[in-house]
Amino acid sequence: MDKHTEHLQDGWKMDHAVADVVLDDLAFYQTLIVNVCMIGKENSNDWVLIDTGIRHYGERIMEMARKRFGGHPPKAIILTHGHFDHVGSAVYLAKHWDVPIFVHPMEWDYVTGKRDYPVGDATVGGGFFALISPFYPTKAVNLARYVEKLPEDGSLPHLPDWKYVHTPGHTPGHIALFREKDRALIAGDAFITVKQESAFGVFTQHQKVHGPPAYFTPNWKEAEKSVQKLAELKPSVAITGHGLAMEGERLNKQLQELAANFKELAIPKHKRNVH
Ligand SMILES: [Zn+2]
Ligand SMILES: [Zn+2]
Repeated sequence: MDKHTEHLQDGWKMDHAVADVVLDDLAFYQTLIVNVCMIGKENSNDWVLIDTGIRHYGERIMEMARKRFGGHPPKAIILTHGHFDHVGSAVYLAKHWDVPIFVHPMEWDYVTGKRDYPVGDATVGGGFFALISPFYPTKAVNLARYVEKLPEDGSLPHLPDWKYVHTPGHTPGHIALFREKDRALIAGDAFITVKQESAFGVFTQHQKVHGPPAYFTPNWKEAEKSVQKLAELKPSVAITGHGLAMEGERLNKQLQELAANFKELAIPKHKRNVH
């Protein structure tokens, strides 16, 4: 894994480090299998990074950010949750930019080395990623030097137009970010637009609303409530932790459908009677 990602890190692919722009102040960048998001207009010195991708993507994220924001560092890094594929380059970036990292208070223990996530559940999904999930790192990262707790009232530092929505289930302190005025949503892994358990889905990036990545979701009851919460917001556009951005009627219809039929559509068959 390290060899592969270090190879990607080498200069030859830096040209491809370009953000996908969704709105004039909302963009995302795909690192191997996971997205990072940027809130802020082009060339602005007032922007925030959401999530940090897997390890060894720090340089590429910085290069992408240099292109979009003309070298201005972000004001802060905000994490949707602490899974390894979302925090991998967090320390590297926080150090280089000298900025704080914010997490929900209930995610705190998992990003300060106090608690580990449960290991991936290889009995769900059946695809390649589910199969190798027990080998994914679940060991708690330690961001202690940089991390701060988000305020309890749902406000987000440096983002006056945005609020966070507590969306537990996939992890205890998982959050989504929502802006009321245009109903833009950054969903993290509360739901995703690619079927993450199957390798095919990840690499072809089929655009379809799916439940959270099954192998890493320990609490399906909460995950269901979280999807219902987000569906009620009727987002006009959504960027998720994995897969491509979605918008409009297609997003809305599929998200309502997922919320209404969560058990059948998202929860792996043999887990449905657990709660
Ligand atoms: Zn996750
Ligand atoms: Zn993820």
